[in-house]
Amino acid sequence: MAMTSSLERLRDTNRRSITSLLAAEGPMSRADLVRGTGLSRTTVSSLVGDLISTGHVVETTDRGRPHKGGSGRPPLLVALSTPAGGVAGVDIGHGHVRVAVADRVGTVLAEETAEVDVDEDGAVALDRAARMVRQALQAAGLELSDLHAVGMCVPAPLDRRSASIRTGILPGWRELTPGDELHRRLGVPVFADNDANLGALAELGQGAARGSSDLVYVKVASGLGAGIVLGGRLHRGASGIAGELGHVQVDEDGQVCRCGNRGCLETLVSAPRLLALLQPAYDVPLSIERILALDDDGDAGVRRVLSDAGRAVGRALADLCNNLNPELVVVGGSLGASTSLGEGIRAAVDRFAQPDTAAALTVVSGDLGDRAEVVGAVSLAIARVSV
Ligand SMILES: [Zn+2]
Repeated sequence: MAMTSSLERLRDTNRRSITSLLAAEGPMSRADLVRGTGLSRTTVSSLVGDLISTGHVVETTDRGRPHKGGSGRPPLLVALSTPAGGVAGVDIGHGHVRVAVADRVGTVLAEETAEVDVDEDGAVALDRAARMVRQALQAAGLELSDLHAVGMCVPAPLDRRSASIRTGILPGWRELTPGDELHRRLGVPVFADNDANLGALAELGQGAARGSSDLVYVKVASGLGAGIVLGGRLHRGASGIAGELGHVQVDEDGQVCRCGNRGCLETLVSAPRLLALLQPAYDVPLSIERILALDDDGDAGVRRVLSDAGRAVGRALADLCNNLNPELVVVGGSLGASTSLGEGIRAAVDRFAQPDTAAALTVVSGDLGDRAEVVGAVSLAIARVSV
């Protein structure tokens, strides 16, 4: 009896890895599923058979996105079927709330963004997020009763057991459990994670890290954080706080950080900090968009500041890379597209990581820009309702 139920649990877990992979990467062949899940060919074939008979997946020849086709017949692919209703993704940053409503295979139907100072009062930001979900549903032609699940991210680590925020990084959110709070406001299941973790999942599934299995996603925005993927899986750590790259200490006597420590990397590198550093030298009010444009134009001051910021990030990343040996660093967040930032990271990794580690590593900007987190939140919601 116990044996049967543990076998069933195993099959359930394996079915879930297949549907999660399909949710993240779109239609795939059975051979791709074998490679992507690490399950045997026989197991994949049997589980796909189950999922087809229950209507969760369908066979198709449509890859859902352009691909370099060879000659001959297109291969038969497996895709998640598109059940009725939708899911939502909610990305809460330090300075914004972004919401996307998608169908159940991840096609975004409506998206809303608002600039909100979320740090001081979690309840107000969550009220706003719930309103935006309702508005996006309406724009997508869906009702609240059509919504199956919400994935959300917050710019702070969530305790792995309680899913609550324990740190002082978000002062107005201390001891809040964001998933439960949004669930109370919407009445549907809400799954919460850290922002950089979901950004990493989105770039892994649909962006610059497709096909990679060991990577570090670095989000450079209002804060600084990392999502670590090892062996194709997100590494959350013992209590859920892995990847706090922004709180690596770089100056023992430095500025006091919002985490309570001193001289954290984030006190040197964050969008507000870099804006404040640059603004006195410019006559026009600077914004992140303006800084990125000036970087492209070769503006000396902007290049210097972004390149120095990249070096500081790269110095901390070099140690992480020496320990983890990733093949890829994906730079995301609102500043992720900056050429000078990327070059600074590369230069510091080359200088401070051991040569073989640096040689094995590629540094790229994310494909999904500052939408990565909301795309990852949608994928999280789909993965949790697919089976
Ligand atoms: Zn800190």
